[in-house]
Amino acid sequence: MRLSVVSYLLLIISICFLIQFELAHIEEGIHLAEDSTDAEAQARGYYELYENIWKDLVYFPIPASESNEEAVTTYENSWMFERTYGGSYGHEGTDIMAGIQTPGYYPVVSISDGVVEKVGWLEKGGWRIGIRSPHDVYFYYAHLDSYGEDFHPGDVIKAGQLLGYMGDTGYGVQEGTRGKFDVHLHMGIYIRTEEIPELAVNPYWFLKYLEQNRLSYNY
Ligand SMILES: [Zn+2]
Repeated sequence: MRLSVVSYLLLIISICFLIQFELAHIEEGIHLAEDSTDAEAQARGYYELYENIWKDLVYFPIPASESNEEAVTTYENSWMFERTYGGSYGHEGTDIMAGIQTPGYYPVVSISDGVVEKVGWLEKGGWRIGIRSPHDVYFYYAHLDSYGEDFHPGDVIKAGQLLGYMGDTGYGVQEGTRGKFDVHLHMGIYIRTEEIPELAVNPYWFLKYLEQNRLSYNY
């Protein structure tokens, strides 16, 4: 009789352990499920922000030349290629290179509607202009030779509007530093998330898409 009581108790203790073990597992499973739901929601959020970029694209930033066949531009997918000015870092953009290496020759137009957010000299970007589009995308145009007009933050911009001329400014603290690299337009695209105020995305594929919407200018 005594033995069977002990066995009985042992059995109950074992069952309790088993139940506890199972409960812990179920709880862990619930946590994992919650985590994956969060990750999914975050991924969906990023995807929606990324999709927004397409909604604001209108024109390729460099119009075609009506009069000079040699006025070509070329670019490659140089996303995160190494850049070394002021330390090594990844290239956050696409460089549209000038076939004719004359600063101020190629016009640069806005690829979207928007509002001027930043304008003026930057050590790396030279004379740059940053435009916030209707879907909250920041389009960054750098190394300009000059501006199309005297822009100020808050100015309303229409897609296709002349922003300035392609140049080789930048890579210097001194405003107006030029000639440190070939004439080109550096194009950057940034989206804004709750955690990251400036999240760079690769402009290459958007530019490829925009090639079919190219204005032509007489230059
Ligand atoms: Zn660049």
